[in-house]
Amino acid sequence: MKKLYAVIGLGRFGGSICKELSKEGKEVLAIDMDEDKVNEYKEIATHAVIADSTDELALKELGFRNIDHVIVAIGDNIHASILTTLILGEFGVRKITVKAQNNYHEKILEKIGADEVVHPERDMGRRIAHSIISSNVLDYLELSDEYSVVEIKAGEKLSDKTLIELDIRKKFGCNVVAIKRGKDINVSPMPNEQIIMNDILIIIGSDKDISRFQKALV
Ligand code: ATP
Ligand code: ATP
Ligand code: CA
Repeated sequence: MKKLYAVIGLGRFGGSICKELSKEGKEVLAIDMDEDKVNEYKEIATHAVIADSTDELALKELGFRNIDHVIVAIGDNIHASILTTLILGEFGVRKITVKAQNNYHEKILEKIGADEVVHPERDMGRRIAHSIISSNVLDYLELSDEYSVVEIKAGEKLSDKTLIELDIRKKFGCNVVAIKRGKDINVSPMPNEQIIMNDILIIIGSDKDISRFQKALV
């Protein structure tokens, strides 16, 4: 059986999830209470329907009980987002992903049984901040409150040295898990691997250790 997805709220965030899932050939039910938004997605989603997701009966009639994964992408209306999540939880929807507007909203969503809470503006802001601080930090992914993965472009301090010479694990407590060079990617670099200028290092570690590494070598 094909997996069924639904996206509630077709703003920029929900809309782009809907487009991407459809592009990947997935079966997507798109819901918004705004008629114009729904019309915009008629040709994109499998079904696009005008509905208020806080209306339990309406969701039931649309077959939400049989949806495998629902993405709640309601924007500023936190009340509607919470109520929708509660209703979907009661339906026994297998997976519910909800977009949070702020930390308080996020906490409530976790308490009422959202399986996954996403915070795109905050996370993207953090990623961009790290690349603003250093133009050699190409990407930044938070694994937890304490641990991250960063993508760093090798400048002068890292170039023409091996991992042993740099002694990264011992000195900074972080691990180089991969080195990208042009189109090639080496996913388990040997200790004697030599880094060359503009290589992209993918490094995993605690934020504190990564920060020490960056101060010394980036
Ligand atoms: P953006 O990414 O553009 O900032 P957003 O995801 O933050 O968008 P909005 O632009 O506010 O949020 O879009 C949320 C969408 O959710 C709107 O199109 C709105 O009509 C829809 N929406 C809000 N409440 C409900 C509801 N109860 N039922 C269905 N759709 C809703
Ligand atoms: P360790 O006791 O730190 O694991 P080791 O005795 O296993 O080191 P090697 O694996 O040969 O020795 O590596 C020597 C040093 O080179 C390591 O201590 C570490 O500082 C650095 N190093 C090697 N590979 C990596 C890597 N992938 N990421 C970060 N540092 C590395
Ligand atoms: Ca918004």
